[in-house]
Amino acid sequence: VGDERVFIDCGMFQEREFVHRNWDACPVPPESATAVLLTHAHIDHCGLLPRLVKEGFDGLIYCTRSTAALADIMLRDSAHIQEEDAANKRRRHKREGREPKHAQQALFDEVDVINTLPLLTGVRYKQEVQVSKSIRAVFHEAGHILGSAMIEVIAEENGKQRRVLFSGDVGQWNKPLIQDPTLFENADYIIMESTYGNREHIDGGDIGEQFAKIVGDTMARGGNVVIPTFAVERAQEIMFHLSGLVHSGAVPRLRAYLDSPMAINVTGVFLRYRDSLDDEYWNMLKDGRSPLSFPGLVMTKTPSESKMINKDDAPCVIMSTSGMCTSGRIKHHLRHNIQRSASTILFVGYQAHGTLGRQILEKNPRVRIHGRDYPVRAQIAQIYGFSGHADRSDLLRWVGHIKSPPQRVFLTHGDEDAAAALSAEIKDRFQWPVHTPEYQEVVEL
Ligand SMILES: [Zn+2]
Repeated sequence: VGDERVFIDCGMFQEREFVHRNWDACPVPPESATAVLLTHAHIDHCGLLPRLVKEGFDGLIYCTRSTAALADIMLRDSAHIQEEDAANKRRRHKREGREPKHAQQALFDEVDVINTLPLLTGVRYKQEVQVSKSIRAVFHEAGHILGSAMIEVIAEENGKQRRVLFSGDVGQWNKPLIQDPTLFENADYIIMESTYGNREHIDGGDIGEQFAKIVGDTMARGGNVVIPTFAVERAQEIMFHLSGLVHSGAVPRLRAYLDSPMAINVTGVFLRYRDSLDDEYWNMLKDGRSPLSFPGLVMTKTPSESKMINKDDAPCVIMSTSGMCTSGRIKHHLRHNIQRSASTILFVGYQAHGTLGRQILEKNPRVRIHGRDYPVRAQIAQIYGFSGHADRSDLLRWVGHIKSPPQRVFLTHGDEDAAAALSAEIKDRFQWPVHTPEYQEVVEL
C-alpha cells in the first residue's frame, strides 16, 4: 500500500519437487517490510521467518499468543532437524565425492531462531492492530490448529479503503478442543487456501466408538496399540478421545504413553492458552473430566524413559512421533510391535507415498526399520476424520458465506488440480472472478 510493505506468512516449501525454492532470494528486500502477519505455526507458514530475519527483516511478526508459543517449539525443532540433515548430507557427499549446489547447509540455525522469537508479537482474536501507517489487521479464529487465524487486512490509500481477507488454512467444523472457523459476510478481495478443493473427507463414523473397539480388542489380545502421530494438534486430539473413553469407562483402565518431547511441550501450550479452547473442552472440565489427562497417562520426555516403555509387559497405548514414521521414537515402537499379531498399529493421519507409514498401511508383508527387515504381523487399523483442513464442501461453505460479491478470489496452497476444481466450482456457483496465481506472480489490486 503506497510504499508500505507487509508480508502474510513466510513458509517453507516441504514438497520434494519445490524445496529448492527455499533458497530463492526474497522477492523484495526483507528490511523494506514493516511487519509480518502470521496465520499459524505450521512450518509451511512460518518456516522461513528465521531466514527473513537473518537477511535483514527487523519489524514485528504479529500472530496470536498461542501461535507465538507454538512457533517457538516448531522453529527450534526445524533448525535442529536441518542442522542434522545438513551434517548427514555433508558426510555422504564427501564419501561419494560429490559437490552439490545447496543442501549441505541449513537454511537457518538455532541462533537465527533465537533472533526471530523476540519479534513474535502476540495479539488477541478480534482485536484490531495497526501494523503500519495505512494498514490495520484483525485476527479471527480459523479452527485449523491451536492459535490458527484468518486475517482481515484493512488498507487505506488516498481516502479509499479495501478489505482483504486471508483465509490461512481453513479448519474443519466441530473439531475437538479448538473453536470453529470464522465466517465472514464482506471482503473486497479474498485469498483462500484450496488444499482439499477437489476432495471430501471420508466419514468413517464416530471416532470415539472406533477408538474404543480398537483399544478394547487389542487389550483383550494382550497387545499394544501403537499410534504414529503429529506433535501438534493430532496428539492432543487423540488424548482428548482417549480421555473421554477412560473417564466414561468405555475402555478398561489402561496405561497410555505420550512418547514425544515435542508433543509434550505442545500439550503444555494447549494448557497455557486454554482460554481459546471450545465449549466442549470446558464442559468436560466442569464435569470433573480433564480432556488432556487421565489416570494411566504417562508423558515420557527422556530417552531412558522412552526405552522403559518396551519393558512394560502389560498391554498399553503408545502415541509417538513422527506422524508418518519417517523418523523419531515411533520407529523403536514399531520395531518392538510390528511382529506381534496381538498388537495394533493405528493410523490417524495421511501417510505420504514412500514413507514407512504408507508401507505399513498398505500392508507390505515386510518393512525395513533401522536398516533391518521385519515381517508385518501386527493388526493394521485406520481411523478417518482427523484432518485439520476443511474439505471441498467446507471451503465452499466458508467462501459462500460472503454476501456481497468480492472483486476477486485468489486460490493458493493447493495442488494444481485441487485449485482448478475449486476455481471452476466458485465461478459456476457464485459467478465471481477467481484467479490462481503462479509462483512469484505480482498482482495489483
Ligand atoms: Zn496448516
